[in-house]
Amino acid sequence: MIIAIDGHSSCGKSTIAKALAKRLGYTYVDTGAMYRAVTLFCQQNKFIQNGIVNEDALKQHIGEINISFALNKDTQQQDTYLNGVNVEKQIRSMEVAHDVSMVSKIGFVRKAMVEKQQKYGESADVVMDGRDIGTVVFPNADYKFFVTASPEVRAQRRYDELMSKEGHANYDEILENLKQRDFIDTTRAESPLRQADDAILVDTSEMTREGQLEWILSKIQQ
Ligand code: C5P
Repeated sequence: MIIAIDGHSSCGKSTIAKALAKRLGYTYVDTGAMYRAVTLFCQQNKFIQNGIVNEDALKQHIGEINISFALNKDTQQQDTYLNGVNVEKQIRSMEVAHDVSMVSKIGFVRKAMVEKQQKYGESADVVMDGRDIGTVVFPNADYKFFVTASPEVRAQRRYDELMSKEGHANYDEILENLKQRDFIDTTRAESPLRQADDAILVDTSEMTREGQLEWILSKIQQ
C-alpha cells in the first residue's frame, strides 16, 4: 500500500504523513529530508558558491552521499543521517531551507532520489511525503493527497515550530523563503510541484491536526 502526500512548503504535510503512518502502522518516508541532506552535503563541500550550485562537482560526488533514517528513542521520530552522522537538526535550518530548492531542481539529483524512494515503496507499506510522489515517484499510488494552506498560515506554523525548537525565528524571513521555494518548486522543468489529476485536495488552513488526520482517514476507509 502506498499513500502519497504532496503539497506546498510548510503546509503540515509531514505532520499529517507521520500521524497517518503511525495510525496505520506503515513506514513514513520524508523525501524533503533527502533533498535537504543532499543540500547540506553540497554546503559542507562548498559546492554552492554565490548562490550557484557547482553541478559538475556534485555529479562527481553524488555517489558518496548515503542517506538513511533511524528512530530517535527520545522524540519517537525518525532522524535523518548523512553518511552515518545525525543531521536532523542541521537540515531543518534556514541555511539549508534557503538552498534546497536550487539543489532539488537538478535532474540527476532527482533521478537518484526517486530511485531510492521507489525502493522504499517496494519493500513496505509506506506513507511518503514530498512534491512529486503522486505524479512521478508513485503515479499508481493507492491514495494521493495534495495538501495546501495559505502562505501566512504556513509561515506562522513554521515560525511556531522553530521558536519551540530553537528559541528564535523570523516570521518575514520564513514567509519569504516559503514563497520563494513554492515558486521554484512549481516552475522548475524537472517534475514540478503540481496536484496529480487523481489526488484529493486537503486545505489545512482552517483545520486542526486531529481534524486533518480524521478527514484523511475517512477518505482512505471509504
Ligand atoms: O518537504 P520539505 O519542505 O522538507 O522539502 C524541502 C525542499 O525539497 C522543497 O522545497 C523542494 O524543493 C524539495 N523537494 C522536492 N521533491 C520532493 C520533496 C522535497 O523537490 N519530493
